[in-house]
Amino acid sequence: MSSRMGWVPFVLSSAIAACDASTSGPGPNDQLSARIESPTHSYRFSASDVVDTATHEAHYRWLLGALGVDPAVKLEYHKYRDRAHLQRMTGRATNGFAEPGTPRFHTIWPWDNHEGVHALVTLTLGHPPALFNEGVAVAHQTNPRAGDTVARWNGEPVHAIAARLDAAGQLPTLAVLLESPSFFSHAEGVVYPVAGSWVRYLIDERGMAPFESYLSNASFNASAAQTRSAFLTAYGVTLDAEWERWREFLDAQ
Ligand SMILES: [Zn+2]
Repeated sequence: MSSRMGWVPFVLSSAIAACDASTSGPGPNDQLSARIESPTHSYRFSASDVVDTATHEAHYRWLLGALGVDPAVKLEYHKYRDRAHLQRMTGRATNGFAEPGTPRFHTIWPWDNHEGVHALVTLTLGHPPALFNEGVAVAHQTNPRAGDTVARWNGEPVHAIAARLDAAGQLPTLAVLLESPSFFSHAEGVVYPVAGSWVRYLIDERGMAPFESYLSNASFNASAAQTRSAFLTAYGVTLDAEWERWREFLDAQ
């Protein structure tokens, strides 16, 4: 459910299909011809597919309250049967991705708690470096319809994963995670839950106001120095000092 959005441009499927001999083009059953319209979403999926709108919208209602934002537009949920279907239609080999700054996201899952977060955050708050951008998405990977509002990665609470990595001396350094290309060059199963724990901590312990302030001055391709400067302006403490406070928080978990 992760995406590597932001530094790879969205490419029309026809352009990719034409130069990738291993991938055949979309067939007639691939078109997202089925539609469901709700007050908050346009769902687009193929005729043989299903979308769990009740679970998805329960998460979305919770998310709007958690972030305190209003996108003022419907999000566009593009649902694919599987990775091969998504790849034929979009040219991307992934489980899902969002198109930053637009209402559109794409996923193979019948309900979503990650790509839609990207869509909502980049529409309303900003598009920060991957540590914060993936972090805010993973920090909201919950299932409110099932009564579960704990942020999880592959079923495990993100703070538990980060605490275990830190205790084992395997927590990536801030320097490694701070710039988006470096973030994505490391193992997804490490950097995504670590980022989710970090942002969950920031929002829970410091509140939404400084987080919103930081995002309003952040950019996905910011340098480490630019991110440290923007963080200090928003939080009034250095990023490095707050990172160490988060690790103390993990110790106490
Ligand atoms: Zn993501």
